Amino acid sequence: MAGRIPPNASTRSPPLPDAGARPPVVVAGAGIGGLTAALRLARAGHRVAVLERAGVIEEVGAGLQIAPNAGRILQGLGLGEALGAAALLPEAINIHRARDGAILSRLSLAGAGERWGAPFRLFHRADLQQLLLAAARRNDAITIRTGARVGDFEEGDGAVFLRVHGGQGPEDFEALALIGADGVRSSVRSFLNRGAKDAPAYSGHTAWRAILPAESVPATLRRRESHLWLSAGAHVVHYPLRDASIISAVVIVEDGLSRAWDRGPQTLDGAALLREAGLAAGDADLRELILGGDSWRRWPLYGRPALAHWSRGAVTLLGDAAHPMLPFLAQGAAMAIEDADALGRAFAPGVEPAEAFKVYEHTRIARATKVQRASRRQGDHYHASGLHASARDLAISALGGQRMLERNGWLYR
Ligand SMILES: Cc1cc2nc3c(=O)[nH]c(=O)nc-3n(C[C@H](O)[C@H](O)[C@H](O)COP(=O)(O)OP(=O)(O)OC[C@H]3O[C@@H](n4cnc5c(N)ncnc54)[C@H](O)[C@@H]3O)c2cc1C
Repeated sequence: MAGRIPPNASTRSPPLPDAGARPPVVVAGAGIGGLTAALRLARAGHRVAVLERAGVIEEVGAGLQIAPNAGRILQGLGLGEALGAAALLPEAINIHRARDGAILSRLSLAGAGERWGAPFRLFHRADLQQLLLAAARRNDAITIRTGARVGDFEEGDGAVFLRVHGGQGPEDFEALALIGADGVRSSVRSFLNRGAKDAPAYSGHTAWRAILPAESVPATLRRRESHLWLSAGAHVVHYPLRDASIISAVVIVEDGLSRAWDRGPQTLDGAALLREAGLAAGDADLRELILGGDSWRRWPLYGRPALAHWSRGAVTLLGDAAHPMLPFLAQGAAMAIEDADALGRAFAPGVEPAEAFKVYEHTRIARATKVQRASRRQGDHYHASGLHASARDLAISALGGQRMLERNGWLYR
C-alpha cells in the first residue's frame, strides 16, 4: 500500500486563489460520469484532478441517447450550446415488431424539451465525451492526467493516499477525497468492498454494436427518428447521428452462447449476426439494416450487485462503478450525470467529504437502484415470447405513444 508521500509535482493541480493548501479531489476515470463530476465539483469550488487509466481519452464508436433528466444538468453546467452543436434531436421513437415490421407505436417527441426542460438528444459517444473533455480542459480548477490507473488507497489525517500506476511506475498521490468513476469493473469499488462477493458478473446479454453509413440503410429508416424492434430474446435499437450522416445500431441478445462467444469472434458481419442472434427479423428493412453492417462489435454486458452503501469515509462511487445497469431504459450515462450533480450539491468546500458523501448516497441510492431494476424489467418485457409477447404488443398499441412516453415521466422529470 502507498506510503504517505506528497503528490509528485506533475500530479498537482493548479491552485485556485482561495484553495489554500488542500489537496485536490481525485476523480478516477474520465468517462462521461467522471468528466461531469469534475465539472460539477469545480463549479462547487473544488480543485479536481481526473486520473484516467487509458493513454488517450476516447469513447467507443457507438451512439448514446441523453434523456431530458440528464440534458437539463448538462445545460446547467453551461454546455447548452455545445450540446446543441453535437446532438441530433430525434422527432419520434418508433416501436416495431421485428417479425413483420408492424409499427406497434409511434412516440412523438415534439414538445419534449418544453415539457421536461431539455429535449431528447442523440450523440456519437465520442462527441459527447470530447465536449465534456474540452470544457474540463478550459477549466483552471481541473487537471486531467491520462495513462494513470488508480490502484489501492488508504485514508488518514483528513486525506486519502492513493497509489497511481502509470508509464513511470507507481506514484503516490494525496487527495482530499476519492471519487471512483471507473466504470463497471471499478477497482475503487473492489478495494472499498474488499472480501465481499462483488465481482462483475456476465448478465446473460450481449450487445452487438455498429455505426453504419446512412446510405447503406433503407430510406425509411434514415429519418431523424429512433427505432426499436422487439423480438423473442432480442431487440434492436437504431438512430441517426451527426446530421443523419451515420446510423448507430445495436442488437442486444440473450445468449446462452456467451461462454462460446467469450472465446469466439469479437466482430461479426451482418449475415453471421442474423444467424447467431436468432433474431426473428422478418421485416425486409430491418434485415437490410443488419446486413449493411460488415463489422458488428461484440459488447458483453456485465452487472454487479446493488450496494447498500457507495461510500466509506472520504471515498465514494459514481456512475457504472456504483450502479451498473442494463441499457434497456437508456439511462446508465444519465444516472452517472445525475450522480455528478448530486455530488456537487452535497459536497461544498468546507464540508467534510465523509459527511458530504453520506448525504450524496442518501439522495441517490434509492433512485439509481429503482432505475437499475426497472431497466432489467424492461429487458424482460422487450424480450418476451409467445403469449407474453402478443399481450405486450396489444398493450403497447392500445396505450398510444403519448401515454407510453408519459409513463416514463418519473425518469425524465
Ligand atoms: C449497448 C449500450 C448502450 C447504452 N446506451 C445508453 C444510452 O443510450 N443512454 C445512457 O444514458 N446510457 C447508455 N448506456 C450506459 C452508459 O454507456 C454507461 O452507463 C456510462 O457510459 C457509464 O459511464 P461511467 O463514466 O460511469 O463509466 P465508463 O464510461 O465505463 O468510464 C469509466 C472510465 O474509467 C476509466 N478507468 C477504469 N479503471 C480505472 C482506474 N483504476 N483508474 C483510472 N481510470 C480508470 C476507464 O478507462 C473509463 O474511461 C449504454 C450502455 C451500453 C452497453
